[in-house]
Amino acid sequence: MHALVIGGGIAGSATAVALRSIGADVTVCEARSAADLDAGLWLGVASNGLSALDVLGLRATTLAASLVDPRTGTAGRSGFAPVRRADLYRILRRAAQERGAVLRYDKKLVEADDTGTATFADGSTVTADVIIGCDGVHSRTRSVIDPGAPSPRYIPLLNIGGFAESARAPGEPARLQFVRGGGGFFGYTTAAGRDEVWWFANLPWPTEPTRSELAAMTRDDLTKLLLDALNDTPPFVRDVIERTGPGLYAVPTHDLPAVPVWRRGRTILLGDAAHATTPTSGQGASMALEDAVVLAKCLRDRPSWHDAAARYEELRRGRVQDIVALGARASAAKLTDASIEDSLEWIHSYRVDWAAPA
Ligand SMILES: Cc1cc2nc3c(=O)[nH]c(=O)nc-3n(C[C@H](O)[C@H](O)[C@H](O)COP(=O)(O)OP(=O)(O)OC[C@H]3O[C@@H](n4cnc5c(N)ncnc54)[C@H](O)[C@@H]3O)c2cc1C
Repeated sequence: MHALVIGGGIAGSATAVALRSIGADVTVCEARSAADLDAGLWLGVASNGLSALDVLGLRATTLAASLVDPRTGTAGRSGFAPVRRADLYRILRRAAQERGAVLRYDKKLVEADDTGTATFADGSTVTADVIIGCDGVHSRTRSVIDPGAPSPRYIPLLNIGGFAESARAPGEPARLQFVRGGGGFFGYTTAAGRDEVWWFANLPWPTEPTRSELAAMTRDDLTKLLLDALNDTPPFVRDVIERTGPGLYAVPTHDLPAVPVWRRGRTILLGDAAHATTPTSGQGASMALEDAVVLAKCLRDRPSWHDAAARYEELRRGRVQDIVALGARASAAKLTDASIEDSLEWIHSYRVDWAAPA
C-alpha cells in the first residue's frame, strides 16, 4: 500500500512512522519548507501521548529532548513532558525518514480526487492508494472531502508565549504551574538545574485578530499587553516576561467541536484536521499521536482500506470529541474565572494496545 500523507506536522510525521512499521510505502507532502518547521513555542506531551510515542519507539528520545529530569527518565507525577515544538517535529520527521518514508517540502495540497490523486499548488500531482489528511486545523483536505465542512471556531483568547533563558520561577521543574491574574492567565514550567522558564499567557481577546493584525504587533506591544494584563501577579511573572528571548509569539485560539465527515473514498483525516482542541486541554498533540498509532493498527488488522477506515473512526470519534468539548469548557473557565472540576484520568490513562487486534 502506498499512503500519501498531507502535512508533515505532528500527526503527519507520526503517521508516517506508524505506517512504516506495518510495511506501507509512505510519502509525506508538507506545505512549508523544512526550515519553517523549526519554529514555534513549546507544548506538553501528556502521558497518553507519551504512551503512543512508546509504540512508535520514540518515548525515550522525546523525554531526552524535554524538560523532564534526565536522571529519572520518566515524566513527573503529572505524567507530562514539556518539549519545544520544533524538537518534537524534528524527532518525528527524522524517525519517519530513517524508517524509509519520503518527505517532500513546499508541497501544498490544493485538490484531491476519489482515485487517490492529489494536486499541489506547484501543479505537480502524486497518486497513492490512500490519502491521509494531517494538514492541521485549517485543513484543505477537510474541505476537499466535504465542501460543507465546518471552519474552525474562534475561542476569544489570545495565546502568547516564549522562552526565558535566564529567569527563575517557583515550583517543581517540568511541572505545569498556573497564575491567574485579573486580566489574563499565566502558565509556565521550568528546567531542572538551570535558570530557564517556558511560559504562555492567555488574554481575553473578544474579536478574532487577522493575520496582518497579529503580524503588526511588535515585541514591545506584546510585552506591554502582558505586563498590563498581569500586573497583579507575583513579581516573577514580570521578570520572566521581560527576560524572554527574541521569539515571542501570539496566536489566536481555535477548535473544531465536531467534523461530521472524516473520510470519503480513499481519503481520511487525522489530528487537528479532524478534531482540533484548544491548547487549554493540553491534548492536541497527544490525540494526534494516538490517531497515528490507531490508524496503523486498523490498517494492519483489517482486511480492506474501507473496513480499516471505518474501524479507525469508530475507535477515535467519541474520545476525541469528548476531549474537544472538555477543552472548550476549560477555555471558557479561563474567561469567567471559574474552575472546572473534571477528572482527567480517563484522558491520561488511555493506552493503545498495539499487540491486541483492532
Ligand atoms: C499555542 C498552542 C499551544 C498548544 N499547546 C499544546 C500542548 O501543550 N499540548 C498539546 O498536546 N497540544 C498543544 N497544542 C495543540 C497542538 O499543537 C496541535 O494539536 C498539534 O500540532 C496537531 O498536530 P497536527 O499534525 O494535526 O497539526 P499541525 O501540527 O498543525 O501540522 C499540520 C501540518 O500541515 C501542514 N499543512 C497545512 N496545510 C497544508 C496543505 N494544504 N498541504 C500540505 N501541508 C499542509 C502545515 O504546514 C503543518 O506542518 C497547542 C496549540 C497551540 C496553537
